Amino acid sequence: MTVDRKVRVAVVGAGPAGVYAADILTKTEDLDVTVDILDRDPTPFGLIRYGVAPDHPRIKEIIKALKRVMANEDIRFFGNVNFGTDIKLEDLKGFYDAVVFATGARRDRELTIPGVDLDGSYGAADFVYWYDGHPDAPREWDFQPHAKQVAVLGVGNVGLDVARILAKTAEELLVTEIPDNVYEGLKKNATTDVHVFARRGPAQVKFTPMELRELSHSPTIDVVVHPEGYEFDHGSMEALAAAKSQKLVVKVLGDYLAKEPSGAPHRIHIHFCQSPVEILGEDGRVVGLRTEITELDGTGNVRGTGEFKDWPVQAVYRAIGYYSDNLPGLPFDANGGVLPNDGGHVLDIDGSPIEGVYATGWIKRGPVGLIGHTKSDAAQTVKMLVEDLPKLPAPEFADREAFDRHLDSRGVEYTTWEGWEKLDAHETSLGEGDTHPRERKKVVPRDEMVGIARG
Ligand code: NAP
Repeated sequence: MTVDRKVRVAVVGAGPAGVYAADILTKTEDLDVTVDILDRDPTPFGLIRYGVAPDHPRIKEIIKALKRVMANEDIRFFGNVNFGTDIKLEDLKGFYDAVVFATGARRDRELTIPGVDLDGSYGAADFVYWYDGHPDAPREWDFQPHAKQVAVLGVGNVGLDVARILAKTAEELLVTEIPDNVYEGLKKNATTDVHVFARRGPAQVKFTPMELRELSHSPTIDVVVHPEGYEFDHGSMEALAAAKSQKLVVKVLGDYLAKEPSGAPHRIHIHFCQSPVEILGEDGRVVGLRTEITELDGTGNVRGTGEFKDWPVQAVYRAIGYYSDNLPGLPFDANGGVLPNDGGHVLDIDGSPIEGVYATGWIKRGPVGLIGHTKSDAAQTVKMLVEDLPKLPAPEFADREAFDRHLDSRGVEYTTWEGWEKLDAHETSLGEGDTHPRERKKVVPRDEMVGIARG
């Protein structure tokens, strides 16, 4: 027994990082603990619901495992609760022995080049939010009838998701959970050519082999790898020797490079050694992208050649990485976009640990790594928290319902796990009853979601 009282822990963020942390906590030997998971979304599962692309049902299968965790009576869910406005850190400290932040990263990392604010220049995270039907995303996407040539900056898996969704037809996506407004929006997408730009070489791409191979599974898409910049330096050879998955990625890229296009109506082009330096505009709208041609410097990094190239594109999607939101009342490491922490224990600006406050997932280590990686991360954070418990003061209001009463007294319209099950069943029935029957159709407006969940 680490402490001889019933322990209460709040986890802020119901994505995989938060759910894994709750799971590990409740499975800790000799610890009598209950966990409440809070989220500003009315629904659980964070980026699995609002980050994974709709045509990736295999990744969404992870939800099944997370549901099994949430079935544990020692774990509760409070959705539609916004940390910072509905509830603050001081409030949570009154109800819980410890607080774990698992708030992830949802914004686009800033790209500071001229033209980035032109109409037609979009952050990938905003686009993902829209096609995944997030309640806070605008209902319509600004597809322009003349935007046939489109650039995607960045060669991570988000860049590939965006490129694939732009290159697929709306009909191809009608088998997925996309809501009606997204289907109607996608019908207006006129893109024929998506140009994906890597600022380094093929051995430095961040996307993964399966996701790259999948691009060619759509009959409406040809993948065209361009030979310019398709080069390997000493650093590249070392990277390929060190990581099997990187070698596999390069093999798939090589296969695309060698393949003749089939004549499909849409193309995804992949360009290497092109660093974006300016988004070109006319009358306030994107009309092109200027890149500087780069060359590998021997280490796997690149240097500019001083030669520039203009690409006629009518829209630019910036997929250069996510960035976390600053959490009110907590310090923030703006460089890394994380809560400053020492292996999961959140640190104050003077570097001293903040008592009873922890972090896990992307808010702890930055927006890198696949969903599975958050498990080991959560284990590290929970171990630290459990070791600290004997030193932590018991909360003032330790009974389990005190927090519910607090939210009620503040008029917070929170959703619960049972509420999510109702919404889940509703979305499933919408999908089944659709003119194009599918596993689910998402509800988008927040008040509608909350209304269904709260019965
Ligand atoms: P990411 O993997 O970090 O990729 C970001 C890309 O942006 C890199 O190619 C990076 O190039 C490039 N970049 C950064 N700054 C740039 C700049 N100023 N100019 C041009 N390019 C720039 O990030 P992500 O794609 O957002 O993915 C985040 C995480 O989620 C990853 O772990 C990813 O695997 C995961 N994810 C997985 C899936 C899936 O289907 N499995 C789907 C979505 C996301 P450099 O390498 O040169 O910096």
